[in-house]
Amino acid sequence: MENEYAGRPAAPRTPARRADTMLSLSARAGRLAARQLHTATAGRRAAGADEQPPPTPTEPIRRERAPPPEDPFQRAARIFSDDMRFLWEGKKSRTFFPSHCDVCIIGGGIMGSAIAFWLKLRAGPGVQVVVVERDSTYRTASTPLSVGGLRQQFSLPENIQMSMFSAQFLRNADRFLTVEGDEPPAIQFHPHGYLMCASPEKAELLEQNYRTQMENGAKMELMTPARLKERFPWINTDGVALACHGQENEGWFDPHALLSAFRRKAIQLGAEFVEGEAAGFESRYVPNMQSMGKQSVAGGNYVLDRAVIRLKNGDVKTVKAAIFVASAGANTAQVARLAGIGEGEGLLATPVPVEPRKRYVYFYHSPDGPGLDCPLLIDPSGAYFRREGHGGHYIGGKSPTGTADDPEPSADNLDVDYDYFQSHVWHHLAHRVHSFENLKVKSAWAGYYDYNTLDQNAIIGPHPHHHNLFMATGFSGHGIQQAPAVGRAITEHILDGEYRTIDLTRMGFERVLANQPLYEQNIV
Ligand SMILES: Cc1cc2nc3c(=O)[nH]c(=O)nc-3n(C[C@H](O)[C@H](O)[C@H](O)COP(=O)(O)OP(=O)(O)OC[C@H]3O[C@@H](n4cnc5c(N)ncnc54)[C@H](O)[C@@H]3O)c2cc1C
Repeated sequence: MENEYAGRPAAPRTPARRADTMLSLSARAGRLAARQLHTATAGRRAAGADEQPPPTPTEPIRRERAPPPEDPFQRAARIFSDDMRFLWEGKKSRTFFPSHCDVCIIGGGIMGSAIAFWLKLRAGPGVQVVVVERDSTYRTASTPLSVGGLRQQFSLPENIQMSMFSAQFLRNADRFLTVEGDEPPAIQFHPHGYLMCASPEKAELLEQNYRTQMENGAKMELMTPARLKERFPWINTDGVALACHGQENEGWFDPHALLSAFRRKAIQLGAEFVEGEAAGFESRYVPNMQSMGKQSVAGGNYVLDRAVIRLKNGDVKTVKAAIFVASAGANTAQVARLAGIGEGEGLLATPVPVEPRKRYVYFYHSPDGPGLDCPLLIDPSGAYFRREGHGGHYIGGKSPTGTADDPEPSADNLDVDYDYFQSHVWHHLAHRVHSFENLKVKSAWAGYYDYNTLDQNAIIGPHPHHHNLFMATGFSGHGIQQAPAVGRAITEHILDGEYRTIDLTRMGFERVLANQPLYEQNIV
């Protein structure tokens, strides 16, 4: 795959050019979001309300000017002296905190890091990027706790295309993500495919999805039970009417390695990661600003201006930015609430329909289980497994159905229910692969799906009211594999004002406002 962005020389960054960039960035985002909104809300009453009361003629209008752009040499000197102080005095005394930037990304998991990477790869020093991450150890973030699966077996063309791009990206990860002077990142992509098995009731849907996948360029093989048995002799085909196996570009990789690689490369390209929690937003009143869907306040409007960040030591700082991105995984609805989304009226009345849903992953040993030629198998029951290294080790699990006998577990903590494996997972796996009858669970962990309760699909793009707040959330169990494509897409929207490669318009927040789900049928 050609890296169409690498090697493109970035224009030198001067203070004047930087100011231009900030202005044109916010103007473009606003223009585009307004255009999308016009399409999505045509015929509906656009009744947006702002989070602050309209100023009366006697009230002074609160205006803020952007701080003057920092001289590049002064900035370099400031960072250098701060680094020296950091090295000299120890970690706790680090004082540097960026006061302003072009794009402030809230949440530095795989999404935030991928977006930072693409922005810096394409725009170089022309766009200043700050990533705010509340926990640099990523202890409870979804990314390192995922299974790292990559498939094209989706029902929606957008999801298929995003995952196809991600497979290409992973195959070229060395070229994209190696930090000069370091070893290439060890992403460890295992291209053994996914094997989706369908019951007689779901066979037609599987075949329909297969056709969509093939039309979009994926390489799949549809298998009858006889062909399945011939191809994978260790499978019990009982209860399987049809199966679909990815021939290329499907498999699994190390999610933590991909996160580290994106983050390290983004930092090398100039993105700044700061540890702190987004705790609020400040708005700025812009006189004479009218835009579609935003209720005018005395002839102007409020726009998000600064993110309020609470640091670990209790200090509170603000970062001024032209554009904000909420990529806080399962916590994105909370971050959006800080901007009034789900708290106000009109366009602000609808919350981001994303919540944490706890999922268990069990690590088990079965010495006689399938060997190297073993895809990530998804049983008609929803139970799944894949190899984890060699020597008869596997990981597997199952999402609860949400019914009375298989309810959603509480998402209050990440404690593991080991009994769930015994009661709801094991018998499905042992039925499909007889050698799993004697498996031994060695350990387990739990992580949060960023679950979109509307349609189990991603929400990507600017918010129709806050035109300078972009979202990348709601991936409902397939976010890792889409991060390379989502990072590129958000970057296109911010820098070019439109999607240039994969058109993700249908995945915007407009469908949430219109209550028109865009269902992804293949959720594991
Ligand atoms: C068990 C399990 C298995 C999975 N398997 C797969 C799979 O096989 N394939 C696949 O593609 N996907 C899979 N997923 C889904 C995938 O892990 C997620 O969709 C993806 O990691 C989401 O990335 P993210 O960056 O949006 O979220 P996260 O990785 O959760 O990152 C969000 C970050 O935001 C930070 N944050 C939150 N609030 C704030 C705040 N207020 N201020 C600052 N920072 C904040 C958090 O600390 C976190 O680091 C799985 C998920 C789970 C739980």
